[in-house]
Amino acid sequence: MSNHEKSKALFNEAVDLLPGGVNSPVRAFNSVNMDPIYMEEGKGSKIYDVDGNEYIDYVLSWGPLILGHAHEKVVSTLKKVMEKGTSFGANVEYENKLAKLVIDRVPSIEMVRMVNSGTEATMSALRLARGYTGRDKILKFEGNYHGHGDSLLIKAGSGVATLGLPDSPGVPSSIAQNTITVPYNDQESVKYAFEQYGDDIAAVIVEPVSGNMGVVPPVNDFLSYLREITEQNGSLLIFDEVMTGFRVGYNCAQGYFGVTPDLTCLGKVIGGGLPVGAYGGKREIMERIAPAGDIYQAGTLSGNPLAMAAGYETLSQLTEESYEEINKKADRLIEGYKQAAEQYGVPLQVNRAGSMIGFFFTDQEVINFETAKSSDLDWFAEYYRAMADQGIFLPPSQFEGMFLSTVHTDEDIEKTIKAAEQVFSQYKK
Ligand code: PMP
Repeated sequence: MSNHEKSKALFNEAVDLLPGGVNSPVRAFNSVNMDPIYMEEGKGSKIYDVDGNEYIDYVLSWGPLILGHAHEKVVSTLKKVMEKGTSFGANVEYENKLAKLVIDRVPSIEMVRMVNSGTEATMSALRLARGYTGRDKILKFEGNYHGHGDSLLIKAGSGVATLGLPDSPGVPSSIAQNTITVPYNDQESVKYAFEQYGDDIAAVIVEPVSGNMGVVPPVNDFLSYLREITEQNGSLLIFDEVMTGFRVGYNCAQGYFGVTPDLTCLGKVIGGGLPVGAYGGKREIMERIAPAGDIYQAGTLSGNPLAMAAGYETLSQLTEESYEEINKKADRLIEGYKQAAEQYGVPLQVNRAGSMIGFFFTDQEVINFETAKSSDLDWFAEYYRAMADQGIFLPPSQFEGMFLSTVHTDEDIEKTIKAAEQVFSQYKK
């Protein structure tokens, strides 16, 4: 067993200082019954905890670090920028530089507004969609996470469309009432919702590949269907690409699937590890945002030079070939897992889009939140702890995907497969 003494001591201190000892719930490692690990350093594909344990990192700060930890070019640029000051509350050239890259690569984006997190991006995109269409309701999918804004933190109803109830105390029911929630990948439920509420729906917001119930890609042209039905009903289609943006491909999920939304939310990779979000889309819609238009949204640190520079350097390093390379490594990892699962009789479903991978411990095909929940969560927790013990750092939840970076080596992948084989060999039906 690896030693976690310092992590334990820090967490004991933190529970008195921070609610639950953390600043974001998943870091409490609750669902894997383990004390949280405190990290100290990262370099390339490796991350090191405060007790000196080394791990191959498949969390990558929950997606942003597609170039791995402390990428030389990103760090050297940040140092240069930082020495001249960290924020001015005035315009800087890096805002244009990052915006140009985003507009160039994301098919739906003609203009973009930078914010500071994915949550801000989705909240702002919703306001824009409501302001632009003059409608209040939005439609979202069960098991899709769009940050913690009131309108989006809504529990899914089962079966066909139901008007949402708040997922969290503190979300006013008057706000939840405007959010319709239906199962992911379920065209019939979307159709039904539009029959009921079509004239009131400002927007459909969707993760084009869902990454917040494990990884669940769209099936049966689901995204094209959403494009059609929103167009027919005068609603906007919003792709929440906070996770998929610049992750599943050079032109994001919309390029990968060939479906162009009206608005796109970004985060994670575009900040290269610093706090950034963005939303963008058709010029005609984006020009409604203040001060070009009448829909208000602002930010003290939005577009600050450090975050813009980290994002710019990160996107600058990525080429079409980078994605091919990462995907090859993902192919090998998946092949190794499948073989090991077969050898030891472990029920395993593999979902993936590019370098976003979801391994589910179930016999059922996973296409939505219901089927994702059929996974064996006790076994996942056991698997998780045993992998961590062998130096493999995975997202501490069955309902989160794994990520690869450009700097994961073939050796990393083989070591990970070997660790999984070892754990799977302990599987008891
Ligand atoms: N949308 C999606 C698809 C996400 O995965 C996340 C975060 N995991 C968010 C929005 C919220 O982003 P943030 O945590 O930066 O607020």
